[in-house]
Amino acid sequence: MIAVLPVRAGTLPLGGDEAVAEAGGVALVVGDGAEQAAAALAGVATEVRWSEQSAFRPGRWADAVAPLVDGDDLVVLPASPDGRDLAPRLARVLDRPLLAGAVRIRSDLVTLTRWGGQIMEDVVLAGPAVATLQPGVRGADRDPSLALRAAAVTLAGTGDADGPGTDATEPVLLEVLPADPATMDLAEAERICAGGAGLGAAEVMDALGRVAGAIGCSVGATRVVTDWGWVPFERQIGTTGVTVHPKLYLALGISGAVQHVAGLGHPDHVVAVNTDASCPMMSIADLALVTDAPALVRAVAARLGVNGHA
Ligand SMILES: Cc1cc2nc3c(=O)[nH]c(=O)nc-3n(C[C@H](O)[C@H](O)[C@H](O)COP(=O)(O)OP(=O)(O)OC[C@H]3O[C@@H](n4cnc5c(N)ncnc54)[C@H](O)[C@@H]3O)c2cc1C
Repeated sequence: MIAVLPVRAGTLPLGGDEAVAEAGGVALVVGDGAEQAAAALAGVATEVRWSEQSAFRPGRWADAVAPLVDGDDLVVLPASPDGRDLAPRLARVLDRPLLAGAVRIRSDLVTLTRWGGQIMEDVVLAGPAVATLQPGVRGADRDPSLALRAAAVTLAGTGDADGPGTDATEPVLLEVLPADPATMDLAEAERICAGGAGLGAAEVMDALGRVAGAIGCSVGATRVVTDWGWVPFERQIGTTGVTVHPKLYLALGISGAVQHVAGLGHPDHVVAVNTDASCPMMSIADLALVTDAPALVRAVAARLGVNGHA
């Protein structure tokens, strides 16, 4: 088994370390800053080959990577945006089935998540396959005593001067724009402002969304809030929602139930606003504000000039 990681700017893709751990520590890292990203796998990987590339060219990369991983029955990619782009192309070149959205990958059995995590499907492997692993489903404990062997490898035909390759759908990179917190995948958001039942009304949640936009945060919510339809399901954080990895987490009117906190990862900073000083969310907060969350949201929205129609 081998993990293939597409990287940008020397940064591992979301769930990249987990894909390597699931693949038993063997990886091929491709992209801009591949050497730096390969080094970041210390403690998780044992054997890494890396290839420095410029722009993301999944069609060309699939052509060039395929011969290097053909001997591995299972090729694992993280289900990150670039991983989901590269995986089907690699499956096509290798002429293998693609098992997308796995939560567990074994040499003879792959478990896939379907319908937003409501259904698990076991696929018994009858031959070689390519699979994508959902970020956040297994973690990747670091073992500092693990020795890492890293070596550079050259991919043929992936240079800027090389033509479009065999993939007619090869994307062309025009410009790299910073991610918009309002629309980016919540799992990749560095700053999240989340609301719970304590906000009391849908229009307060709307106002929180505007505040979040104004301060560069993505919007998250509890299951109570998504069940009420105040925000779409993809904004739900927790065991039956998205697993997030923010640096900053602002929790307003959220009790901190275990099913919610289990999807939180390990934020560097947690700020909680709640009228109940002793609820679980307040106990894990670095800054706990005992105050009325709806009033605070309205006041901040007014101060920022994002009152909208609330
Ligand atoms: C199988 C299963 C899966 C689940 N999956 C998830 C999941 O993925 N994600 C998830 O979030 N939940 C999930 N849940 C639900 C979870 O157990 C909790 O019910 C939910 O997280 C609670 O949401 P909440 O904090 O918004 O609401 P509550 O628990 O009702 O908390 C509301 C909080 O607001 C505070 N509050 C009230 N008024 C104010 C005010 N004026 N100002 C400030 N604070 C105020 C209260 O003190 C309280 O702490 C799941 C449950 C089950 C059984």
